[in-house]
Amino acid sequence: MSTSRKAPVIVVTGTPGTGKTTHAELLAQESPIPLKHINVGDLVKEKNLYEEYDEEWQSYTVDEDKLLDELEPLASEGGIILDWHTCDIFPERWADLVVVLRCNHTMLWDRLEKRGYPLKKIQENNEAEIMDVVIEEARSSYAPEIVVELQSEGTEDLESNVSRIVQWIEAWRKDRGLSDS
Ligand code: ADP
Repeated sequence: MSTSRKAPVIVVTGTPGTGKTTHAELLAQESPIPLKHINVGDLVKEKNLYEEYDEEWQSYTVDEDKLLDELEPLASEGGIILDWHTCDIFPERWADLVVVLRCNHTMLWDRLEKRGYPLKKIQENNEAEIMDVVIEEARSSYAPEIVVELQSEGTEDLESNVSRIVQWIEAWRKDRGLSDS
């Protein structure tokens, strides 16, 4: 599948608060080719791709079939950054690169507290980060060579991670004879 795409599909995943949206926005700005940032959580809300809203957890129960139908044409075309806290529902053939962001759990707790999350949601996410939930999910869903685990604690991490992904995009295009250089 990926061979027919002229631009890659980059999945940016990680526990909420690890910096996915911050990374995806900067990457969309710095990419050598146009990349559309898709904040999957926002898309679910905008397009009603959920079954219900769970008051207790303050989160949406996603209708996965609807979500996948919505994303399929975009993934086939390529040139997107999929920003979501989980990645195992995306078909393996969609992803060219899976970036898993990681953050020290104390720092993560502070970020989620600032975001106004209820305590149990902070605890749940904090525990998920400690237990390596998202990285294990990524490793069990995709080929090891496309899964990259990156630290996202300070601005230097953000900048170096984004420039690393930009270099990866350039190499991806070169490998396919798509770059001008
Ligand atoms: P996510 O999309 O994973 O939920 P966000 O990108 O919204 O996370 O980031 C959560 C908060 O943490 C934001 O206030 C953001 O500025 C901060 N943050 C995330 N990553 C970094 C980083 N590498 N350096 C500095 N601040 C960061």
